[in-house]
Amino acid sequence: MTVSLKLYNTLTRQVEEFKPLNPPHVGMYTCGPTVHDFAHIGNLRTFIFEDLLQKVLEAEGYKVVRVMNLTDIEDKIIKKAKEKGVSLEEFTTPYELAFFEDLRKLNIKYADIYPKATEHIGGMVKYIEVLVKKGLAYVAEDGSVYFDISKFPEYGKLSQLDKREVKAGARVKADEYSKEDVQDFALWKSVDPGEVGYDSPWGRGRPGWHIECSVMSQQYLGETFDIHGGAVDLIFPHHENEIAQSEGKTGKQFSMFFVEGEHLLVNGQKMAKSLKNYFTLRDIEAKGFEPLALRYLALTAHYRDKLNFTWKSLQAAQNALNNLREEVRDWDQSKIGCAEYERRFFNAVDNDLNVPQALAILWELVKSDYPTSAKAESLLKFDKILGLKLDEYLGKPLEVPEEVQKLVDQREKVRKNKDFQKSDELRDEIKKMGYEMEDTPTGPKVKKVL
Ligand code: AMP
Ligand code: ZN
Repeated sequence: MTVSLKLYNTLTRQVEEFKPLNPPHVGMYTCGPTVHDFAHIGNLRTFIFEDLLQKVLEAEGYKVVRVMNLTDIEDKIIKKAKEKGVSLEEFTTPYELAFFEDLRKLNIKYADIYPKATEHIGGMVKYIEVLVKKGLAYVAEDGSVYFDISKFPEYGKLSQLDKREVKAGARVKADEYSKEDVQDFALWKSVDPGEVGYDSPWGRGRPGWHIECSVMSQQYLGETFDIHGGAVDLIFPHHENEIAQSEGKTGKQFSMFFVEGEHLLVNGQKMAKSLKNYFTLRDIEAKGFEPLALRYLALTAHYRDKLNFTWKSLQAAQNALNNLREEVRDWDQSKIGCAEYERRFFNAVDNDLNVPQALAILWELVKSDYPTSAKAESLLKFDKILGLKLDEYLGKPLEVPEEVQKLVDQREKVRKNKDFQKSDELRDEIKKMGYEMEDTPTGPKVKKVL
């Protein structure tokens, strides 16, 4: 362990040495899902990246306190629940459960706390009251409350907005908007009678999306914490607005690091619900892929690089994972690993999470001439970070069903008699049963295929 993690910080646009405020503790907040639908595999790429970051921090000996919000009230949710004629809770609960199921299947460690927006409305109202008192927010004619970006001189520091674009006084009420709308944003939105809302000093309304993350992150992690994460689409307006609200309120730095992962693309375009170019974990499982193959695929790209999703690349990831499992099946374990490989592996992950390089080093180790017992020890250390559950395969020979084994033995016989046609036929038959043969110097090796 080297304790020399370097991370890219969007605040400074530089790779910096990571030093927590209160070692060995690390406070980490990551924006969670909007539970209006199943997560798509683009969302999941981000959650895998954040999990890798947590696992690297833990491998460095840090004690991570991880908070991830669940956005269970927001423009899209309200619209969809209304269309379905159900309450917000009835509408969001199945997607919330599905989200946790996805995390489990992807071997993503659960956060310590999953605060829900609807359970923190009181805290949000109090927070907004402070912003109004400090003159950073104002109440509009309709009872909505807006953050006045002209009162926060550092507005735009995270997303490096050109100050000239800022339209002070103009307002945006929607939860999501583009860089073209650099305007005062809604902290509290007035609602019409009959719409979902809560009582407040400004009349019935509901919170905007950005305020929930300031309130819930600071409630659980304090006014200043170590790492704030998400994907790059959140840099503006979401994270920018969180900084304005939080630093405006406390006068202190909000998060020391902002780390945002790049997107998963499809045909060169961001995977997004609105573009209808998305797949869920259920979609990929329906095609016979394992969730861990998606995790493997995510490991092959650096988190700050875009990754274009194709079924071919997912198949390649599934094959690589299968091969890796087969490699380790007949290894036994010792207490002594391969120091040189471990040094290289941890150097790679410490260098702004260079996981693709770390994965290549793992494969180098697998193919090396070191005794398998030593390789096993290092491999398990690596997999604590990569999370491919290789311990379920290491040292556990494949249990080949009797019918398959019979065909394998039969094929060995005909091959020895040089009846290659029959041998090929038997190979095909074995394949149909989901197994593959590899002829090695020590005899045939049977592998499971997808
Ligand atoms: P949402 O449920 O829409 O709030 O998104 C959950 C997380 O997924 C957020 O951190 C988003 O920034 C992230 N995200 C959305 N689309 C993509 C994508 N195509 N690739 C990677 N992350 C994404
Ligand atoms: Zn957020």
